[in-house]
Amino acid sequence: MTRLALTPQRFILCCLFTLAWPIFAYADLPKATNVPGGVAIVALGSVTASSNRPQAWLGEQPIFVTKKDDVWYAVVGLSLDLALGQHELRVAVAEDTKTLSFNVQAKNYPKQHIKLKDKSKVELSPTDKARAVREIALIQELKHHWRDAPNTDLSLTLPAKGKIGGRFGMRRYFNGEPRAPHVGLDVVVPGNTPISASGQGEVLAVDDYFFNGKTVFIDHGNGLITMYCHLNRIDVQVGSRVNKGQHLGLSGATGRATGPHLHWSVILNGVMVDPELFI
Ligand code: ZN
Repeated sequence: MTRLALTPQRFILCCLFTLAWPIFAYADLPKATNVPGGVAIVALGSVTASSNRPQAWLGEQPIFVTKKDDVWYAVVGLSLDLALGQHELRVAVAEDTKTLSFNVQAKNYPKQHIKLKDKSKVELSPTDKARAVREIALIQELKHHWRDAPNTDLSLTLPAKGKIGGRFGMRRYFNGEPRAPHVGLDVVVPGNTPISASGQGEVLAVDDYFFNGKTVFIDHGNGLITMYCHLNRIDVQVGSRVNKGQHLGLSGATGRATGPHLHWSVILNGVMVDPELFI
C-alpha cells in the first residue's frame, strides 16, 4: 500500500475542501418561506431508510424531491393564489404511501403603480385580447412541463447584474387599473445587455409574446423552470443544452415594458415563486 505524503500543497487542498464542503452541502435548498409565492420544505425521511428517491404530489402535481445531509426533502412551490392554512402532501417512500401536512401563512405584498403611455397594452383590443389569452394558455402548459432528472441544482444565479426593480408578488396597477400581480423579479439593465442562464438545463421554449415579449424558458429538470422576458434578441434554440452562466440573448423592452429591463421568473411545480429565495 502506498501512502500520500502530506505536502504543503496537499494540506492547503485538504483545508480548502473541508472549508468548502459545508457550503456545497447547504447550497441545495432554497430559503423556506411558507407563504403564497414562497417555498415549503417538507422532510420526508432519512436517506438510509430509503435510498430510492421518494415521490411526492400536491393534488395531482408532482413535487421536487431532493436530499441534503442524509434526509429527503420535498421542495414545494406555493402559488400566489394558494389558500392559506393546512395543505397535504402525498408521499410514496419505499413501499409506503403517507400524507404529510404543511401550513401556509399570509404575506402582504406591497402595491406598485405603473404608468404606461401605450394604452393598448392595458386596454386590449379584441385581437390582442384573443392573442394574450391564447399565449397565457401556452405559458400555463410550459409551466407544468416535467422532465425527470437525476439531479437539479436549486441554487440559481441572477441572469444579469443590475439594480433590482420590481420584486416578486407586488400587487400591480397599470394606469390606476388593478392587474395581475408581478410574478418575477425585474433587473434594471440597459438594452442589449447579455443575459445568462441561471442554472444548467435545456431550452424548453423561445417565443415572442404580447405581454412578455421575446422570451426564453429553461427547463432545469424535476419541475424547476426559469423564464427570461422582454429580450431584444434570443441567441439559443429550443432543445439546446445550456450551462449555468451561459449566454441566452440580449435584454430589451419587448412586450409590455416601461423600459429596458430583464423580467426573470422562477417556476417550481407549475407555479411562479419568488426568485430571490433561490439566489
Ligand atoms: Zn417584471
